[in-house]
Amino acid sequence: MERHHDAVLRTVAEKDVRFIRLWFCDVVGTLKSIAISPEDLETAFDEGIGIDGSTIEGFTRAYESDMLLRPDPATFQTLPWRGEVEGTGRMMCDVLTPDGEPAASDPRRVLRSVSERAADKGLDLFAHPEIEFYLFKEGYEPGRTLTPVDTAGYFDHVHKGQGQDFRRTVIQYLEQMNIQVEFSHHENGPGQNEIDLRYADALTTADNILSFRTVVKEVALGMDQVATFMPKPMIEHPGSGMHTHLSMFQGGRNAFHEPGAEFGLSRTGRQFIAGLLRHAAEYCAVTNQFVNSYKRLWGAQEAPSFITWGHNNRSALVRVPFHKPTKGTSSRVEFRGTDSACNPYLAFAVLFAAGLKGVEEEYELPEGAEDTVWELTDRERRTMGIEPLPTDLYRALEVFESSELMAETLGEQVFEFFLRNKHDEWRRYREQVTSREFETSFFAG
Ligand code: GLU
Ligand code: MG
Ligand code: MG
Repeated sequence: MERHHDAVLRTVAEKDVRFIRLWFCDVVGTLKSIAISPEDLETAFDEGIGIDGSTIEGFTRAYESDMLLRPDPATFQTLPWRGEVEGTGRMMCDVLTPDGEPAASDPRRVLRSVSERAADKGLDLFAHPEIEFYLFKEGYEPGRTLTPVDTAGYFDHVHKGQGQDFRRTVIQYLEQMNIQVEFSHHENGPGQNEIDLRYADALTTADNILSFRTVVKEVALGMDQVATFMPKPMIEHPGSGMHTHLSMFQGGRNAFHEPGAEFGLSRTGRQFIAGLLRHAAEYCAVTNQFVNSYKRLWGAQEAPSFITWGHNNRSALVRVPFHKPTKGTSSRVEFRGTDSACNPYLAFAVLFAAGLKGVEEEYELPEGAEDTVWELTDRERRTMGIEPLPTDLYRALEVFESSELMAETLGEQVFEFFLRNKHDEWRRYREQVTSREFETSFFAG
């Protein structure tokens, strides 16, 4: 730690960094930032910087509004879009109570606890996301039709396409911030892009996703465009998923890999998938936290709607990707449910908690489904024991609310805030009268 502190102080002095942003996120996953001056860095490392947590979604109960931000020096980077001269640095922070204890409401703490519990069993958790998002010519305003920046589709190369320049700048910025990109391409929808980050430990990846979303929004604005991670912004085009590849290592060995086994998947890997499947309806409210998330899940277009796993099946919730048999270290499972607007700390926490539960309790993995589940009839699905994901936020909350695993993983404070906040979102949504209702019932009777 000490070494990291010194390195930060040295870099700040050498690069003449004038502002240090302290980054953290609320329970919904919105990035929060306060800037301090370099003179306050040592205090920040030693004691933390005081903030009023009462205005942050889900952070405090009324009687405990003072909180401390303690920056993690290992995460120090300068922000490329703020220029080289008199630059701006940033660090991810842990949130503490005034007596220096980890705050129960800090999403980073929630994921850290799951990682620590796994580490007690000798397991290290790794993740990498494929993040999809849309680029529009303008931002949302009531009554405005959104216009995507192009009309291209999957993997399309767009001549003089703005998307390419855009992805190029995003990737340069990310690399300057030490966030490695695996690949990027145009996605299926017009103006829809995907950028995949290289794998890292789960906590670092969640930090990277917060940085990623900020970089993407900054670069878009710099090009007079607007980026959105909204799960389903367009009715007739696919939603934006954040497929996440999960793996666990034990003593430097990939715990999901077994040479010669079906799909190279070990017993631990199978049990992990069984855990993801058995608890899918319980954690769905976290991996898909908005009313709008369910429009993606149930909007077809390659988003999963049923709780299945498969190898070559793009409608499955969990997929075991192909890997070369010689590449044992790359064995992983791809979870396709998560959307790009989730809180990555909480989403990873619940996914790993579900998978680990499967391993601890030695769950049996049900049969995989290699057919497109969408093409089966309801009756066929029932006979195959294939359950649907919750069809809307309210149903997801009902299952979430009665889940011991969720209460235990998130901790009482986040669990309760989440329920209150999301029930409120649902209530406000239900109050709306939509144009669809006018179409169906204005002339009725
Ligand atoms: N956009 C799709 C989704 O919502 C995924 C498309 C793909 O397979 O990359 O999950
Ligand atoms: Mg994709
Ligand atoms: Mg994928």
